[in-house]
Amino acid sequence: MKADTSEKLRLLPGVDWALSALEDFIHKEAVPRSLATQCVRRAVESTRAELLAGGQAPDDVKEAVLVAAQSLMQKAMGPNLRRVINGTGVVVHTNLGRSVLAPQALEAVNMAASGYSNLEFDLATGRRGSRYSLVEDLLKELTGAQAALVVNNNAGAVFLSLMTLAQGRKVIVSRGELVEIGGSFRIPDVMARSGAILTEVGTTNRTHPADYEKAIDENTAMLMKAHTSNFAVVGFTASVSLAELCNLAKNRGLLVMEDLGSGSLMDLSCFGLAKEPTVGDSVAAGADIVTFSGDKLLGGPQAGIIVGRADCLDAIKKNPIARALRIDKLTLAALEATLRLYRDPEKAASQIPTLAMISAPEKALAAKARSLEAKIRKKAVPGLKTGRLSTGSRVGGGALPLESLKSFGVTLAHQSLSASGMEKVLRAASPPVIGRIEQDTFILDVRTIDKNEITLLADTIAGALNNELAGRKERLS
Ligand SMILES: *Cc1c(COP(=O)(O)O)cnc(C)c1O
Repeated sequence: MKADTSEKLRLLPGVDWALSALEDFIHKEAVPRSLATQCVRRAVESTRAELLAGGQAPDDVKEAVLVAAQSLMQKAMGPNLRRVINGTGVVVHTNLGRSVLAPQALEAVNMAASGYSNLEFDLATGRRGSRYSLVEDLLKELTGAQAALVVNNNAGAVFLSLMTLAQGRKVIVSRGELVEIGGSFRIPDVMARSGAILTEVGTTNRTHPADYEKAIDENTAMLMKAHTSNFAVVGFTASVSLAELCNLAKNRGLLVMEDLGSGSLMDLSCFGLAKEPTVGDSVAAGADIVTFSGDKLLGGPQAGIIVGRADCLDAIKKNPIARALRIDKLTLAALEATLRLYRDPEKAASQIPTLAMISAPEKALAAKARSLEAKIRKKAVPGLKTGRLSTGSRVGGGALPLESLKSFGVTLAHQSLSASGMEKVLRAASPPVIGRIEQDTFILDVRTIDKNEITLLADTIAGALNNELAGRKERLS
């Protein structure tokens, strides 16, 4: 051990001393006594560990402990789930909470959360009602299906449908559709847990109707199609359409299920995007069961929606596991309000943030980028260089993986920060600003930044950079 280290270890303060030195802060922030003690203890321990590890020792050991303890308390007292500014341009960003809700949905959540409601109470009869009936008619109307059920998420919807309709029996899926979605949802794994027996047919790039036909036997329950959400096979490919699958299933007493993943209720080609089949298209093609997410392209809360044939849905509703995947009242409120907006497609496109961001006109994005850059530049952060560029944003959420939406970004560069240094500083800001690095340049794609966030964003960027630069100067002096 270096003499310097043992000297510094001796200078480590005691817990009581540190607590009294931090008394003002603890009082001001109303940090509970036990929490404060815990944080101070951890700060002493981590400083001790650092000294023992032999890295660069702090000049003032006592000060280092106080700073560490204060930062631990600050962290413990603030919320863990925080708002962030999404400058990634990925509209349905699973790590950043997927869809932002429409104002109408927020209002409904507020109503449902702040008072009692008829969640499971039939106001007409005064008897017990079903929470599911609150959105079933809307879903039927919007998709053309005979029946509908909403559960916790689409993974749950797939699981519950397979378990109910195919447990102990074979489900035939093309090898090209055995997809893994981020966060460990894998079709084969979910299928195994549901008790259904996966039968893979075809090859990665080509599957033909005859492949399914050959695999069908007396223990087959279902033909399943899964949306290849987050990838695309290009080149020498062939797949069997949903309509063809339905044709194969007919007269054989087999069910056809489609996991649509994102599941749009609206044809997005009117926004200049590639044509994605809508939920209604799948129902019309003859699928018995269609499942999709509530918080992907639909732009609502986290939910899994199952629509399809009435007898299939009846069986699913009766499965006791449906209760374990039950949707809560806040989600239901947000979902109903979001679905109502779809009755008028123009309203949906303008009021549902996910759709509004996807369909934002180029001109508006360019103007937003200009305004953001100007606001940042006005802050005159020393050494900060801003710029603008045209870039491509993504829909995300496993929708349209090949589609790049023409967008605009603001670039931020600083002489004393690398692109990843800039990324780190802004990620640590309050609120955190999340951007992306493209060709060694840090950029904020304005597609996912709300007009109302621009002033806050410019203030946050300037504040975080000024802080960082001031800190550096201090460390240098
Ligand atoms: C996203 C997705 C899922 C999972 O949906 P969650 O709502 O996230 O549970 C399942 N299947 C496909 C094809 C998907 O794209």
